[in-house]
Amino acid sequence: MSRHKYPIGYKFNKLTIIEFLGRKDDKSHHSYYRCQCECGKIIDVLTQHVQIQKSCGCAPRKMRKL
Ligand SMILES: [Zn+2]
Repeated sequence: MSRHKYPIGYKFNKLTIIEFLGRKDDKSHHSYYRCQCECGKIIDVLTQHVQIQKSCGCAPRKMRKL
C-alpha cells in the first residue's frame, strides 16, 4: 500500500535520501528514509519529518511550529 513518497537522491536542507527503509516493524505505521547529512552522518528520518528535519543534528534547529 505504501508508496515511496520521495525519490532516492531527494535533497532537503542538509540531508539527502539514500534509501527507503519502510516500516521498522509491523506494529508501526511510520515509515523511514535513510538519509545522509552534509557532514557525512547517516540517520533515519520519519517520512513525515522529511523536509522538516534540517540536519542530523549538527546544525542548530529552529524549534518553530508552522
Ligand atoms: Zn550533520
